[in-house]
Amino acid sequence: MSERKTDNTRNLTLAIFSLKDNTLIQAVGGGPWCCIVRMGCTTLEVMYDIAGRGMKNKLLVSACLMGFSVRYNGSEKANLTTQLARWQREGRVVIHCPELAAGLPTPRLPAEIVSADGADVMGHRARIIENDGRDVTAHYQLAAWLALQTAMEQHCGAALLTDGSPTCGSQFIYDGSFSGIRKAGMGVAAALLREHGIAIFSERQIPALIAWMEKTEEEYDPVSTRIR
Ligand code: SF4
Repeated sequence: MSERKTDNTRNLTLAIFSLKDNTLIQAVGGGPWCCIVRMGCTTLEVMYDIAGRGMKNKLLVSACLMGFSVRYNGSEKANLTTQLARWQREGRVVIHCPELAAGLPTPRLPAEIVSADGADVMGHRARIIENDGRDVTAHYQLAAWLALQTAMEQHCGAALLTDGSPTCGSQFIYDGSFSGIRKAGMGVAAALLREHGIAIFSERQIPALIAWMEKTEEEYDPVSTRIR
């Protein structure tokens, strides 16, 4: 019998069972593990999540949606649904404000992406300016990278983000004229998170988010074996 780590990024706890009588013969914990069990000429790769820990989706949520007054004008956009409250009680909500994480103050001047979207800003093809004309592109690019870092460290599979923001917007953003004109597009953090495989939802898509969470968890099989 031998064991090795896999590149599985989920936090697994592993148990090894006897192939003869299905009794537990060894259990190891911590980190993503996979064991190779050899019985004669048969090799069985066994992964088993004993406690189901780490297998529930976690969710990165805009801090202003959770009631924190961190928006540019010092307000919040609390939108705590029953479902969101339950996920929070289960420890599955990671509250994050990318702009604050990047060191921007509250209150701060409103900022908009100029005639482009968040992917363009992250690709250095567009700028973000405040309404006094100051170029704050670098601050917002940092905000996006910090959101991604947090999501990756916390193993978030999805993000629920405040729409319209040059950082968190996902369905729409403003056009850069500071005249209240909306356009379809994503903010910098939403674009970067999506590029890295994280499912993005706005506060108006909570039913779709709930369906996504349920579907991805249904697809997870806590016992995984493979004969090699
Ligand atoms: S950066 Fe995102 S979380 Fe922070 S205030 Fe703006 S919309 Fe809310």
